[in-house]
Amino acid sequence: MRKLIIFTAPSGAGKTTIVRHLLSKYDELAFSVSAATRSKRPHEVHGKDYYFLSLEEWYKKTEEGDFLEWEEVYQDQYYGTLKSEIQRLRNLGKGVVFDIDVKGAMNIKENYGDEAVTIFVKPPSPAVLFERLRGRQTETEDSLRKRIARATEELTYESKCDLVLLNDDLAIALQNAEEIIEKLLAIEV
Ligand code: ADP
Ligand code: 5GP
Repeated sequence: MRKLIIFTAPSGAGKTTIVRHLLSKYDELAFSVSAATRSKRPHEVHGKDYYFLSLEEWYKKTEEGDFLEWEEVYQDQYYGTLKSEIQRLRNLGKGVVFDIDVKGAMNIKENYGDEAVTIFVKPPSPAVLFERLRGRQTETEDSLRKRIARATEELTYESKCDLVLLNDDLAIALQNAEEIIEKLLAIEV
């Protein structure tokens, strides 16, 4: 079986950009599609980027114990990893890649121990992080405020992760990410 490969960081650090690149390059990888209650962004696809759920659907799944972990990442916005998703991808023999918040990353690591590796995507500075978040143009002023408010605490999780991937120059970050993935894909757990 292959490792569970968890990319984590504050919103805007570049997780999605890096993870998309890796998924397009390595057939051995597959993305753990999370469930979420936030609204879909225009380019996003249900079942590919997220399983977008209503709050009612969300509560039903939590009651039924369907989640390996979940977090209210922002007020009234829930995100979680479905047990069925990990099982499905592991059964296909894939290296499962996650793009999740720092607390979710810690939970999965605690559950899976050495079968999981946490990779902290580090922005060059908080100021650059906030610029990227703004520049992405996906957030309202209100959601931007919530994301920035949470980022300061999230940045403190760098030291709790197994690996740190600096995302300053994107081309260099992608190259370093590829090196990490190639090493991880060579390990059986
Ligand atoms: P996350 O998934 O961590 O929230 P994204 O991958 O959506 O972050 O990246 C946030 C924004 O920053 C996006 O607009 C993305 O194109 C941009 N971005 C990502 N990495 C870099 C980089 N190294 N340099 C400049 N812009 C970047
Ligand atoms: P976004 O709304 O920008 O897609 O994601 C917001 C935050 O939620 C990001 O930090 C993202 O990594 C995190 N997230 C996405 N899916 C999950 C999940 O399944 N569990 C947890 N705990 N966080 C998630």
